[in-house]
Amino acid sequence: MSVENKEKDDKVIVNDNGVPLYKSQMTALDEKLDKEIVYEFGGSVGVLGMMIGFPCLMYYLWVCLEYHQGSLIYPSSFTKDDIILFISREIIEKVKLGAYPTAFAIKIYMGYVLFSFILAYIMPGPVVHGTPLPTLKGKSLPYLCNGLSSWYLTLVTAFVLHFTGIFRLTSIVENFGSIMTVAIIWGYTMSILVFICAFMNGTTHRMSGNLIYDFFMGAPLNPRIGHVDLKMWAECRVPWPVLFFIGVSCALKQYETRGYVTAPAAFLVLAYFLYTNSIQKGEECILTSWDMFFEKDGFMLIFWNMAGVPFTYCYSAVYLSKLEETTGIVVTHSKAYTIFLYILLLCAYYVFDTGNSQKNRFRMEQNGTYIDRKAFPQLPWGRIKNPTYIKTKQGNMLLTSGWWGIARKPHYTADLFQSLSWGLITGFGSFLPYFYFTFFFVVLTHRVTRDMERCAKKYGKDWDRYCERVPYIFIPYVF
Ligand code: NDP
Repeated sequence: MSVENKEKDDKVIVNDNGVPLYKSQMTALDEKLDKEIVYEFGGSVGVLGMMIGFPCLMYYLWVCLEYHQGSLIYPSSFTKDDIILFISREIIEKVKLGAYPTAFAIKIYMGYVLFSFILAYIMPGPVVHGTPLPTLKGKSLPYLCNGLSSWYLTLVTAFVLHFTGIFRLTSIVENFGSIMTVAIIWGYTMSILVFICAFMNGTTHRMSGNLIYDFFMGAPLNPRIGHVDLKMWAECRVPWPVLFFIGVSCALKQYETRGYVTAPAAFLVLAYFLYTNSIQKGEECILTSWDMFFEKDGFMLIFWNMAGVPFTYCYSAVYLSKLEETTGIVVTHSKAYTIFLYILLLCAYYVFDTGNSQKNRFRMEQNGTYIDRKAFPQLPWGRIKNPTYIKTKQGNMLLTSGWWGIARKPHYTADLFQSLSWGLITGFGSFLPYFYFTFFFVVLTHRVTRDMERCAKKYGKDWDRYCERVPYIFIPYVF
C-alpha cells in the first residue's frame, strides 16, 4: 500500500476501486474562491484588444495562407501611409474578394451548427452528473452525454452527402474564407445572446462590474437551452468536428486532383480524427475539467470554440492544400521522418487520452458519477486500479499515480507534442502550421499559472505536499 493510501480515513465510504467517495458539501473557501474576481489577460484593455485583435489576426493569417502560400506578409515600410495602403489593399480587398459571407457559406456553417445542436438535443446517451458546484451548494448538473452517437451520425451523414453529390466535402476548403467569416460573425452573435440572456434570466455569476471584462469572461456559468448545456455543446460538438471536416476536405480535394492522398495529408486527417473522437468518446470525462466547472460561458470560450479553434488549428491541412493548389508543390518527406512523426503523434495521443482519462475517471469515481463506457478506443491504463492519492482537508483527493505520479500536467505536455507534430508534418516552409502549437503553448502555460494559483489557495498545505510528491509540472527532471 502506498504512503498516500495510508491516509485514508476509515470513516470515509470507499468505492470498489478503493477510491473514497466525495463528500459533496462545499466549504466556505470553495464558495469564496468560486466568487473571487481576478483580473486576467490585462483586464478590460487587454481583453478588448483580444476581442478586436483575434478576428483581425485570423483575417491576416488567412490572407497569408490563401494568397501567399503561407508566407507572412508586411507593408513595404512602416510609415503611416504604407500601413494604411497595405491594410486596404492586402487585407480588406482580399477579405472582400475571398472571405465574403456568402449564402452558401452561411448554409454550410450554420447548417452544421443547427444540425449539431439538434443532435445534442435528441440523440441517445448516458446522463452523467458534473462536478459539484459551489454555486449550487455542492449539487451537480446532469449532462446528456450523447456526443458519441451524434458524432457517428454526423460522420455517416457527411459521407452520404458527399458521395451522393448533395454536398461535396471539398466545398469546405474551396469556401474556407467565407465560412470563416460566418463563424466569426456567429462567434460574436452567440456571445452577445448568451450574455444578454444571463441578465434576463438572473444567472450571472462572478461579475466584476466592468462590462467589457465581463463580456469577455462571460456572465453565466452553465447556460442551457432545455437540457443542452451550451458551454459543453460549444466546446465539444462544434470546433472539433468542423476541424476534422476541414482536414477531410483538404485530403479529398487532393484525391480528386491527383488520385491519391499523400502521407502528410492523411496524417492530418488521422490527427484531427483522433482529437475529435477522443472528445466525443470521453465526453463525460470533460465534466470534471476546469472549463466546465470554473470558466464562464463568455466571448473567450464561445468565440474561440465557434471560430478560433476550427479556423486556426487547421492551418496545417489548409496550408498543404493551398500550396498544392497555387504552386503545384506537393509536400512529402523521407520515410524515416514520416514514420517518426506518425509514432510521435500516436504516442502523444496515447498519453493525452489516458492522462485525461486517468484523472477525470478518478474524479468521477470520487463524485460517484463514474460509468463504464465501451466507446472506441478505450486505451489500456485509462483507469487506474487502486490509485494512490493525497487526501486534502478540503475533501478532494489529488491523484498521484499513473501519469499523475510523474508530472502535474502530463496531459498538457502530451497535448503540446500532438500540436507540434501537426506542424512538423508540413515541413518548415511556413510558420502558419506552427501557429497552433505556439498559441497553445502560451494558452497552456497561462492556464497552468492560473490553475496552480487557484489550487494552492484551495488546498493550502495539502497542495504543498502534493507539489513535493509530484515536483515536476510538464516533464520529469526538466520542468
Ligand atoms: P485539467 O484537466 O488539468 O483540470 C485542472 C483541474 O484538475 C484542477 O483545477 C484541479 O481541480 C484538478 N486537478 C489538478 N491536479 C489533480 C490531481 N492530481 N488529481 C485530481 N485532480 C486534479 O485542465 P484543463 O481542463 O485545462 O485541460 C483538460 C485537457 O484539455 C488537457 O489535455 C488540455 O491539454 C486540453 N485542452 C485543450 C485545449 C485546446 O484548445 N486544444 C484548450 C484547453 C485545454 P479541483 O479544483 O477539482 O481539484
